[in-house]
Amino acid sequence: MSGEGSGLHRVVVGERHTLDDYAAIAHLGAEVAELRAEAAAALPRLAGRTVWMVNSTAQGGGVAEMLPAVVGLLGDLGVRCEWVVIGTDEPAFFALTKRLHNLIHGVDGPAPDAAERALYERVNRENARQLAALMAPGDVLIVHDPQPLPLAAALRERLPLTAIWRCHIGLDQDTPATRAAWAFLAPYLDAYDHAVFSAPEYIPVQLAGRATVIPPGIDPLAPKNRELSLHATVGIMCNGGLVACPGPTVRGPFTALAQRLQPDGRFVPAGVSESIGLLTRPIVTQISRWDRLKGFLPLLRAFVTLKAALGDGDGAGAGGRDAVVRRRLDLVRLVLAGPEPGTVGDDPEALAVLEELRAAYLALDAAVQDEIAILSLPMVSVEENALLVNALQRASTLVVQNSLREGFGLTIAEAMWKRVPVLSSARACGPRQQVRDGLDGRLVADPEDVEELRRVMAEMLADGDRRRQWGQSAQRRVHERFLVFTQLRDWGRLLGRVPLRSP
Ligand code: UDP
Repeated sequence: MSGEGSGLHRVVVGERHTLDDYAAIAHLGAEVAELRAEAAAALPRLAGRTVWMVNSTAQGGGVAEMLPAVVGLLGDLGVRCEWVVIGTDEPAFFALTKRLHNLIHGVDGPAPDAAERALYERVNRENARQLAALMAPGDVLIVHDPQPLPLAAALRERLPLTAIWRCHIGLDQDTPATRAAWAFLAPYLDAYDHAVFSAPEYIPVQLAGRATVIPPGIDPLAPKNRELSLHATVGIMCNGGLVACPGPTVRGPFTALAQRLQPDGRFVPAGVSESIGLLTRPIVTQISRWDRLKGFLPLLRAFVTLKAALGDGDGAGAGGRDAVVRRRLDLVRLVLAGPEPGTVGDDPEALAVLEELRAAYLALDAAVQDEIAILSLPMVSVEENALLVNALQRASTLVVQNSLREGFGLTIAEAMWKRVPVLSSARACGPRQQVRDGLDGRLVADPEDVEELRRVMAEMLADGDRRRQWGQSAQRRVHERFLVFTQLRDWGRLLGRVPLRSP
């Protein structure tokens, strides 16, 4: 756990893959060679300096997902790189930063007041004090997202540094909420030499002219994304509690088991209750943090409508291919999964969002409840959690990311890499960057339009040929643009040209 602890702490990236491991894989060798060549030209100027990555949680969410590979591989490229997480005992800090996160995404809410600004600065000053003791003059500071944004100004009072702000969130619209957020954050931006965003649309006017776009990328060898054999997939599902074991497995049960919401409102180990059907049924899955902007609720409603339409006789009585389609729609189940609430330190709204979903589920008829699995995935072991996500994505006929807003949406790239067709929303900028509608998957225009969502979901389930084409094209697209190598190459180019301060 992190993010809510009393102070700053260092994250040690555990066992990981080296560049040589990636280079040894046939379809990744060329990317690694290209990355090494660029880095050899750009990065020697960092000799003797350390690059410090700072964010607000070591687990849960997209940033914590990407940092281990980025930190580790920068090390392989000869850059000394450290990762630290800010912390505080004051829960109001993360309530404030979550509100800032929502404002940046255009969700209306009260603008932070003077007392909140004081809290924001106090927590960051305390973390800056601790970080200053670790850093050396001339080092490079890369701050991720708004939570630790004031660090650069506070640190620069103490030592000469190059400072870059990497903002992973944003909205492609200017609204009263986004204006309030940027007005609040503006005073802290001046201390940065440069900023990095995931899309050009996200760059606020205050940073125009000193911002670069670097799309996020996934690590193809991480537990979340690596190939899984049939046995490994089934074994993970058995040992993680997602299915009842059909036979003995070599490895024992996971540290903690996945829990499924029951009609009586309790969460119990998922494989113990009525089987979800992961090994045989068509499965539609969304895996995200429990965040309102992820659009779980409209997705649940669309799925319920899809099932209700079948009961009304939609498609019944057809023969041949239509009979298979009908059977697929009859059998399909919805899986909504997210991290055990309370385990993602900088996300205090998770419990409330899961509670809303729970209430919606409990209000459904028993027959429909059977068709929907709301899963809480334990986070005790980040690796086991990742393996569960990997296995669930691979067991899916479709992966949905029905986000109302989405800075990028790593879950989309993760599914695309696995050739699982993705249904996401064109309203959010992140999905649009990844999925070209009709080519790499499908995008609905409005993630809150339950009828549109139902229709597109049904169309996708009905068309196996197109699902295969979308999956193939999606994997190619991730290979070309959204793997960790492209991201590192872009970081290498930026670190090769930012002004460095004399120690
Ligand atoms: N994730 C996870 N376990 C969960 C739910 C989500 O590991 O129970 C991961 C998910 O696979 C993805 C990341 O959390 O890698 C979420 O990143 P994304 O960019 O989709 O959204 P964010 O959380 O940053 O808004």
